[in-house]
Amino acid sequence: MGQKKTFVTLEQIKEINKNYPTPFYIYDEKGIRDNAEKLQKAFSWNKGYREYFAVKATPNPYILNILKDYGCGADCSSMTELMMAYALDYKPEEIMFSSNDTPAEEFAYANEIGATINLDDFTHIDYLDKVLDGKFPETISCRYNPGGYFKLGTSIMDNPGDAKYGMTHEQIIEAFKILKAKGVKKFGIHAFLASNTVSNEYYPTLAKIMFELAVELRDKTGADIKFVNLSGGIGIPYRPDQEANDIAVIGEGVHRAYDEVLGRAGMGDVSIYTELGRFMLAPYGALVTKAIHEKHTYKEYIGVDACAVNLMRPAMYGAYHHITVAGKENEKCDHMYDVTGSLCENNDKFAIDRELPKIDMGDYLIIHDAGAHGFAMGYNYNGKLKSSELLLKENGEVKMIRRAETPKDYFATFDFSDILSKLDL
Ligand SMILES: *Cc1c(COP(=O)(O)O)cnc(C)c1O
Repeated sequence: MGQKKTFVTLEQIKEINKNYPTPFYIYDEKGIRDNAEKLQKAFSWNKGYREYFAVKATPNPYILNILKDYGCGADCSSMTELMMAYALDYKPEEIMFSSNDTPAEEFAYANEIGATINLDDFTHIDYLDKVLDGKFPETISCRYNPGGYFKLGTSIMDNPGDAKYGMTHEQIIEAFKILKAKGVKKFGIHAFLASNTVSNEYYPTLAKIMFELAVELRDKTGADIKFVNLSGGIGIPYRPDQEANDIAVIGEGVHRAYDEVLGRAGMGDVSIYTELGRFMLAPYGALVTKAIHEKHTYKEYIGVDACAVNLMRPAMYGAYHHITVAGKENEKCDHMYDVTGSLCENNDKFAIDRELPKIDMGDYLIIHDAGAHGFAMGYNYNGKLKSSELLLKENGEVKMIRRAETPKDYFATFDFSDILSKLDL
């Protein structure tokens, strides 16, 4: 088994824990910055390139502002994410609205703030027509789903044919014709065909499909195609024995497909957009939690003070998150534990049959790669509250970028002020 490095030491965690109770999320500013810079470099060959960070992965204004330094826009999927982007002064062209099953008021708001609307479905053309009273924006994007399986060589990466997203090949051609007739001037295409890919081939393969579609759409509909949005899907090595993607190699692979298909078709001015979430943030966030119970029954359990409310991925998808014990990084993993949270749900386990060093009560467990789709998926089942989010700055200081929820937050949405007064909150 390979090692997975942490960006905080036991000493730092002890210091932090004096001011902030566990569990807490901590993000590594330097890691985020270095990675964002590498991404920009990998696509610098494309003049119009822009990463629209998938806000849903880590919807925190401080994080968004760090990414802004690297020219990142915001990919929003809901009203509140659009509101966040607007409030953080993103320019209209820096906001992408890639949603599905979209409510009317969200389309209206996206249009009002000038976000680029990415239509998930053919029927949304009529729907949008009614919402906007026939006044379509100048630029529209459509989401494509080629169906079938997405394969790299012979291995199946994902199953777009079974996914709820996007338009069929016939539909997207028809959509472009109709939208053009309705006055849309500039077009984009978007597709998200495989999730968390740990392969340098995903983006180049997807890009080729999309570039060929762009040429076909231009030829068949006369549409002026301004951008191809490769969306998210570049993964990270959650397991220590996996090899990380090389974003420079990925960028070059997309470049080659671009020259081959778009360059040759005289479409060398098309911009490449991405909507990465996981790749931008996952490795640079960790959930830190304390061991508070050990239980010896038919198995060995370590109970921690975090639960699936703080990080849902293991419970929801059986996702692997690497765990290290702070200060015991070099000790032998000669114990086997289930690491559990406190929810009254048997799937509330951060790890099952995991080989770890001997864990003592009070040890800090670092749950790795939780920086994307981690805190953000939080909920309040069992009346559990969400933790704080902290930023480990480049100069080593720690800044709280979101406070932990309190019981007062939990009770705030009842129209029942008696609760609050009785509890003196
Ligand atoms: C979730 C999502 C993303 C980000 O996906 P990652 O796997 O985090 O890169 C991008 N675009 C859309 C439309 C999404 O739904």
